Order: sequence, then structure tokens, then C-alpha cells
Amino acid sequence: MPALTFVLLCFAALVILALRRAPIEIWAGCVGALTLIAQIGLPYGEPVLTLLGGAFVGWILTAVLAALSVNEVRKKLVIAPAFDALKKIMPRISDTEREALEAGTIGWDAELFSGEPDWRRLRDVPAMSLSAEERAFLDGPTDELCRMVDDWDIRHNRREIPDNVWKFVADNGFLGMLISKEHGGLGFSPQAQSLIIGKIASRSPDVAVIVMVPNSLGPGELIERYGTKRQKTKYLKRLAKGKEIPCFALTGPTSGSDAATMRDVGFVVRQSFKGKDTLGIKVSWDKRYITLGPKATLLGLAFHLYDPDGLLGKGEDLGITVALIPADHKGVNIGRRHLPCGVAFPNGPTSGSGVFIPLDWVVGAKEGVGQGWRMLMECLSEGRAISLPATSTSAAKALLRSTTAYARIRKQFGLPIAYMEGIEEPLARMVEVAYVNESGRSVTAAMVSSGEKPSVISALLKYQTTERMRSAVNDAFDIHGGRAICDGPSNYLQSAYQAMPVAITVEGANILTRTLITFAQGALRSHPWLYKEIEALQDKDEERGMAAFEDAFCGHVSFAISNIFGALFHNLTGGLFADAPDHVDKTKRWYKQLARSARSFALVADLTVASLGGGLKTKQKITGRLADALSELYLLSCVLKRFEDDGQPAEDLKFVDYCATNHLYRFQQALKGTIENFPIPAIGWFMRPLLFPLGARRRPASDQLGKQIVRACLTPGEVRDRITRDIYISSSRDDPQGILEHTLLKVIAAQDADKKLDKAVRKGVIMRTHANDWIADAQKKDVLSADEAKMLKELEELVSQVIAVDHFDADEVIPNFRTDNANSLAAE
Ligand SMILES: Cc1cc2nc3c(=O)[nH]c(=O)nc-3n(C[C@H](O)[C@H](O)[C@H](O)COP(=O)(O)OP(=O)(O)OC[C@H]3O[C@@H](n4cnc5c(N)ncnc54)[C@H](O)[C@@H]3O)c2cc1C
Repeated sequence: MPALTFVLLCFAALVILALRRAPIEIWAGCVGALTLIAQIGLPYGEPVLTLLGGAFVGWILTAVLAALSVNEVRKKLVIAPAFDALKKIMPRISDTEREALEAGTIGWDAELFSGEPDWRRLRDVPAMSLSAEERAFLDGPTDELCRMVDDWDIRHNRREIPDNVWKFVADNGFLGMLISKEHGGLGFSPQAQSLIIGKIASRSPDVAVIVMVPNSLGPGELIERYGTKRQKTKYLKRLAKGKEIPCFALTGPTSGSDAATMRDVGFVVRQSFKGKDTLGIKVSWDKRYITLGPKATLLGLAFHLYDPDGLLGKGEDLGITVALIPADHKGVNIGRRHLPCGVAFPNGPTSGSGVFIPLDWVVGAKEGVGQGWRMLMECLSEGRAISLPATSTSAAKALLRSTTAYARIRKQFGLPIAYMEGIEEPLARMVEVAYVNESGRSVTAAMVSSGEKPSVISALLKYQTTERMRSAVNDAFDIHGGRAICDGPSNYLQSAYQAMPVAITVEGANILTRTLITFAQGALRSHPWLYKEIEALQDKDEERGMAAFEDAFCGHVSFAISNIFGALFHNLTGGLFADAPDHVDKTKRWYKQLARSARSFALVADLTVASLGGGLKTKQKITGRLADALSELYLLSCVLKRFEDDGQPAEDLKFVDYCATNHLYRFQQALKGTIENFPIPAIGWFMRPLLFPLGARRRPASDQLGKQIVRACLTPGEVRDRITRDIYISSSRDDPQGILEHTLLKVIAAQDADKKLDKAVRKGVIMRTHANDWIADAQKKDVLSADEAKMLKELEELVSQVIAVDHFDADEVIPNFRTDNANSLAAE
């Protein structure tokens, strides 16, 4: 047998054993068989045998594997020492960490961590759908709300949401979308809530916030899920109808990202309340940044509860607890305002000192005592997947819609700026953000609607969609130039710019969510074996712990081996043999690349966790890159699924190709950065040939593909509408965005006439200056027909409205301008 054949045979055998996760006795048999073949069947193979250290090494390996296949031997030589060693070095998981970890569900994230995603799980996520009632609400009252909102008036003139808007959202049930019908709410699915909040955000981020907050983590959700019957009866109907305005106070001056370390405390006491001896809590707090706080009538308050006198018989330190406190309750300080980034939704601090509240104001009353952190983490897993992904996705779609229209209308150097490559580049980025954010939003909202509470996915989706939106806002500004920078009633971009840092900071600031939460939680929660090992190591019953550890440890070793061989094999063969679902055709190659990449991710994630262990939390440049790598794979999965859910439209394939190429490129860069900077260089060196045996060969999407996706969005029609679906699109000629839409259609209709006119101007036949009527002149000189001249005249007026920026008299924009001037004149 030729030596090369033998080497290939060995590699194939090892890959098959590894990928099939063969039991150790099969490994022993196989290594033995290969050693035998080498010894007797390699007439020309002496160099190979020498290279491999002779058959001697093969037989030793066979003997070791055979010995380890005996339970007792394995336990004594490997499992018990590993159990003792790991017990000493594995970090203990604190109670708050455990509650955070166990709060959510795992789903597609676990498939990616496994290195072998089961496509059926992705396919089983239902396609985006709304009930007839939800669809009617999105197209009816939501549109009406958007129509009545004047963004400039809200954020500039009033710096407040007008009463008629509050009344409309309250009367129509917007504030009770997550409250069940049984309790007087609309009982809408998370998908519907996401679309409704998104559509409102595309009109006014401020109004979206006042709808979003009562429908996410706060009194409504907490009472609906954990409240007592009495609390439900007392509050839910009133909250659903906007008769109570809720807010939720967790953050304080010393406890921002690290909210669990709050200094807000309550002590269980007995005291007279409304003339009765009452069991209750004396609570003191100092909170800030509380959205809706200045308008709230019902304060949801998180604090740490102690019972020094043992009045509840549950121990002294009862843990974080959440209570519902009427805002007008004696001792509650609330109403002052912060001014976050010039936005208009109410936000402010609240405090109280030694305020007595009866025990039955705790969410869930006595049962709810000490359960606050679990409640918050459970709600956060869901809510974080809905609110900010919804607003940042709709912002990305709305920015794309207006910016493509503007860039097609606005001409410089005789050309629409959209056709200049320098503009095409950021426009392509914006198209990608709109497609990817919508894919992530819709697929994840569908997961939540079908009952999942995806803690890891919600974390990555929050930071990814908001970061991408930040890039889209900046690109939109650059493309609009001065038109975006000068504020006024016709500026449709400023509100997104102002609200963007809020989205980045709330519900877990992005830096923390990327570098600390996503990968560390993901590794613990979504890794197939790690959490099982930690639980086994922390088991107080040592014997039971050891048995569970043995199962998990052996599974982990076999998982690690399968990743090593699997990653090398798929990276050498370019994913040719990677798994892809049967039902797809046009996107099969991307599924194969996704499967190949998941295997590489599983390898790096596993080795990172195994080698850094408890140090993971401080190696945030590594965990941040791995969070990015996981995110790229998750979002690519969503892009592929969305394409299928949309019915695989042929015209959309270019968007998928563009996004998929970039997802895989960024994924590669994230892994490359990880191994190049790995804190233990030897492990980085070990991973490099497995991940990049032929080099890091992926490249970003081509300029040509970028041009195609941009051109598709510059043309009014089905594709442009699908890419920017479910945002509010004004048809009013009094509205800056309505004018934009209208002008775009006219620009397309008049493009031939416009070319004729441009040509005549270039040749010097027509002069185009402020001082003359060049269209009339062109008609007179037979450059344009009467119809063309009429069309261009109308267009000229529309374009001048589109490119106009607002200007003001000084006394309109400088407070007390007239009085101050009059005073200074008088003084002179
Ligand atoms: C407009 C607005 C509305 C809000 N609404 C509410 C509300 O209704 N209710 C409520 O309770 N709270 C609310 N918040 C508070 C919000 O959740 C906090 O601002 C947020 O949790 C961050 O806390 P912080 O601002 O104190 O920043 P800090 O915690 O001081 O963080 C500063 C920076 O350090 C980073 N960081 C912190 N720790 C780590 C770490 N371990 N590793 C890496 N990076 C880290 C953060 O990512 C951030 O970038 C609101 C905030 C704003 C601005």
C-alpha cells in the first residue's frame, strides 16, 4: 500500500470516529487495526512508520485506549483526578449568576455551540405571522397614531409627549399589549408588539418609548406573570387602559451595569398603617434614569430586602425584591427630570427614605419576597429580544428608505449622488443593516412568540441590532450632508440620531453585553457539557456529583475531539461535505458554510473556556470577539431563514449573498483576532492550522454585489418595499417624508427628460442659473416637449423642497432673544 494512501486512510478513519463520537473501545480497536495495517501492509511505507515513531507508538496508544475503556481504570486514572483538580479551579457560580443563567431558555444558540446545528430546529421556528386582529391593529390604530405625531413639535417645541397622543395610546390599548385579554389588555404576541413598536419608532422614537416601556420589563409584565390575584384585579385593567402609568426603577447612582449590588434596602417591620398594625417593609432608595418616572403613577421598585427580626421566618437576607408603590404614596420623591440627549420622553430620578409599604405591595406578596432577581432576569430574556431590536430595526429600514430616496433625488456634479461609488459604499452597508436587522428581529420575535425566552440570543441581538443601527444613522447623516445636520421641522433624521445612544445604553449597555454577557453566559448555558460539569462539581452530594461529572466529562472529551477533527476536515475541504438541509436549493452553499463555521466556533469556544476557565470574565477582548463570532453565525441563520419565510424571492438572493459573504468574513476575522491574541499563545498556535489550514481566505462581499443591492433599493417597487417593510410611510405632501416618497416617483418618471435638459446645459444651449427660467428656455429651444417641461417644472419645485433646510429668526430659537436685546439696548 502506498504511504500516502495509508496516511489518508488514517485521517479518514480518525475523522469518521471523531465526527461519529465513537466510544473509546472503538477508538482502541481502530488504532490497533491501523497499526497492524502499517506493520504488515506497508512495503514502501518505512518512512511513514518511522515518522509515526514505528508501530511501537501505535501499540502503546491502543493499549492506553483499551485500558481507559475499562470503567474502573478510567475512573481512577482520569475522572477522579480531574474531578478534584477542577473542583479547586472552577469558579463558583453565585446565586444571582445562577438565576440569570437559569432564567432563559436555550435554543438555536445551543445548536451553534454544538458545532453540528440541527437544521430542523431552525426550520421549526414559525415564519413571521400576525393574527387578523394584530394585523388590523398594525395597519389601523398604529398608522393613525403615526399620522397624528409631529416629531419636531414633540422633541423641539414641547419637549414632551402631547396629551392627545397619550390619550390616543391609552384609549386604544397600546399600553396594554402584553397584558392578557382576560385582564383587560390586548394580549398581543411578541411578534405583534415588536412590529407595532417598530412602526411607531419609524415615526417618533419618543412616542415609541412611551408605548414600549409599559409593554416591557415593569409593573404590567411583573404583575401579569407573578402578581397575586388581588394585584392583578387592582392594577392590570387600569394599566392596560393607561389609567395607571407605570415605571420601573432598578438603576441607581452606584449600581448601573452591576445592578444586583444596589444599595437600596428594605427591612421587614411591623408598623401601624391606615390605623392597623401591619406587616410591611421600611424601604429607602435612590434611583436614576427612570423612564416614565416623572409621569408615573405606579412605581415598580427593586431593592434588597432583609428581615433582621425573622418576622417572615425565611432567614435574614431575603435577596432582591420588587414592590409596587403608588407614586403619590407618602415619602416617594418622583417627578424631576433628566434631559437625555434632547429626547422628549419623560425620564428622571426617584428616591425615598424609610418609606413604609405593606408586605402585600411586594409583587407576588409574601411568595414574591426575594424572588425579584429571578423575575427580572426572566422578563429580561424575553423583553431584550423585542423592544430594542424592534426600534433599531425600524430605524434602519426608515433610514434606508429616506436615504436611498434622497440620494437618488439629490444631484451634484450633474449626477444623482446615489450613483457615485463613494455614496454607494455606505448605502450598501445601510441595505445590509436593514436586511440583517429585520431578519434577526423577525426570526427572534417568532421564537419568543412560540414560547422561548432566549437569554443568550436576546443579549447578542440587542447589542448587534443597536450597533448596526448606529452605523446606519451615521451613514445616513454622511449621505445627507448638511441636510441632516441642520435641525428643523423638515429634518427626518435627527430624532434617530438623538435616540441612538439611549438604545446603546439601556437594557444592558452594549460594551458590557458584548464583552461580558453574551459569550460568558452562552458558554455556560449553551455549551453542551460545561454547565453540566459545573453543576456536578458543585453538587453537595459528592458521589452523585462524581457520577454526573463522569458522564459530562466523557461527553466533553468526545465533543472536543470531534471538534478538532471536524474543524480541520471541513476547513480543508472548504465545507464541501458539511451538512445542509434538504429543503433548500439556492442557499445550500451558505448552509454548508454555516455548518463549517459552527464547527470552527465550537472548537474555539470550547478551548477558550477550557483554558481560561474562571479568567474568562477578565479576558473581555477575547470574549467580545467570540460574542461577535457567535452573533455573525446567529444572524446568518436568521438571514437564511427569513429568505425562506419570505418565499425565496429570486430578486432577494443578492441580499442574502451579500449579507452571508460579509457575515462569514466578519466571523473569520473574529476568530482570527481571537487566536492571534489568545492569552495562552500555544493554544492559539494549536488552533490556527485547524481553523485556517489553507489560510484565512474569506473576503468581504464584492463592490459589484454592493452595487446590485443598492440599485435594487433605489427603484420604487416591490423589492424596495419588502426591504423596508412594516415602517410608517407617509403619503402626505405636507410631510417631509411624504414629499420624499412622492419626489422619488417623479424623478424616475422624468429621468429621460432630465437627461435631455442636462445634455443641453452641458453643451451650453441652456443656462441654468437662479436668474432665468431654464425650463421655459429649453422648451422654447425644442430641447423639451411641453409635457416634459411641465413634468420638470413640477419636479424642480419638489426637489427644492426635498433639499431645503429650515432656518429661523433669532427670536424663534434663542430664548428671551427679544427681551435680552431690548434690555441691552436700554442699558446703552
Ligand atoms: C435614557 C435612559 C433610560 C433608562 N431607563 C431606565 C429605566 O426605566 N429603569 C432603570 O432601572 N434603568 C434605566 N436606565 C438605566 C440603564 O439601564 C443604565 O444606564 C445602564 O444599565 C448602564 O448603567 P450606567 O449608565 O450606570 O453605566 P455604567 O454601569 O457606569 O457603565 C459604563 C460603561 O462601562 C461598561 N461596563 C460596566 N461594567 C462592565 C464590565 N463588567 N465589563 C465591561 N464593560 C462594563 C458599560 O457597558 C458602559 O459602557 C436608563 C438609562 C438611560 C440613559
